[in-house]
Amino acid sequence: MDYNVDKTGYYGEFGGAYIPEILYANVENLKNAYREITDDESFRKEFHALLRDYVGRPSPLYFARRLSEKYGARIYLKREDLNHTGAHKINNTIGQILLARRMGKTRIIAETGAGQHGVATATVCALMNMECIVYMGKTDIARQSLNVRKMEMLGAAVRPVTSGNMTLKDATNEAIRDWCCHPADTHYIIGSTVGPHPYPDMVARFQSVISEEIKKQLAEQEGRDYPDYLIACVGGGSNAAGTFYHYLNDERVKLIAAEAAGLGIDTDQSAATIHLGRKGIIHGSRTLVMQTPDGQITEPYSVSAGLDYPGIGPLHANLAAQRRAEVLAVTDEQALQAAFELTMMEGIIPALESAHALAVFGLKRFRPEDVAVLTVSGRGDKDMDTYIRYFDRMKA
Ligand SMILES: *Cc1c(COP(=O)(O)O)cnc(C)c1O
Repeated sequence: MDYNVDKTGYYGEFGGAYIPEILYANVENLKNAYREITDDESFRKEFHALLRDYVGRPSPLYFARRLSEKYGARIYLKREDLNHTGAHKINNTIGQILLARRMGKTRIIAETGAGQHGVATATVCALMNMECIVYMGKTDIARQSLNVRKMEMLGAAVRPVTSGNMTLKDATNEAIRDWCCHPADTHYIIGSTVGPHPYPDMVARFQSVISEEIKKQLAEQEGRDYPDYLIACVGGGSNAAGTFYHYLNDERVKLIAAEAAGLGIDTDQSAATIHLGRKGIIHGSRTLVMQTPDGQITEPYSVSAGLDYPGIGPLHANLAAQRRAEVLAVTDEQALQAAFELTMMEGIIPALESAHALAVFGLKRFRPEDVAVLTVSGRGDKDMDTYIRYFDRMKA
């Protein structure tokens, strides 16, 4: 079994490219060009030089001693929170901006929910002196003013979207609409392993630097280059895809994905797409989708803005369907507790998204000799308001 994308753009029965006719040539161009460009030696050199000197890679693989003692396993944390801009998303935006430049594009568009991908995109556009337009739902703009200000300071135009619930799904629709109007000069930087083929594969490849480094670092620190468990949170699936990538077909390694259960998978306030979704098409890809019985996409909920996406990357839909990955649904409460635990035991304040992965230690049993690598996808600065409210509630 090969868990990577096949020649037709599918992972098992998931994936493909379901796009409007007007974008066909664009997506086809991208599909035909991306491997040749990104496999090219001079591209790889430029990409890796920026990852080293600009992003600060390799990110450390940190042995978490106190966490290991508590949970009875050898726990390592892959520190994507230490990257420039505070999360793994920059790995992908650096890759895509270099690709866009080599394809002769002059204009960059992106969608953003919480604003993290928007900031990562605005950052690389400033770096490369490219025009940048970020679509963002009006509701999200009101909730995430710091990220909006950052994008504007970086020189991006933030376009408020007022259709639908005015959140991520609506911003994505607007970005696609823009792309349809400017197919020749515009590259659309998608922020996760979602969207039409080749995006899921392309983003997974850019993020695969995470598992490439884990391999090397584990060999040095643990004397073997593979762990028993890899653990990551999944929104669209990019940090998990990067964490799993070089181990996808290595069955010695168990893969665990944590999705956001919100208030619980038995409530209507959840974002656990793999648990609750049914097959459908979203943003150009056939995958699992949270939807009503008659196929309307439902608004997801999670305390974590980066995980409340009503779809899931096709790679992960397939890993779950094949039972290659175990998928756990983690509630707001469990994630918040895990965030405070990591903070108090290791002195690391994680992003709320990453805290969903951390909660896995409380949900599964490990053996003392097990080596578990967990990706801390981002840092918690952006979630301090939520943490402060929770902390005050705990004290009361
Ligand atoms: C955006 C984000 C996620 C979720 O996106 P994936 O594509 O599933 O990785 C997770 N963690 C952080 C810190 C994020 O910013």
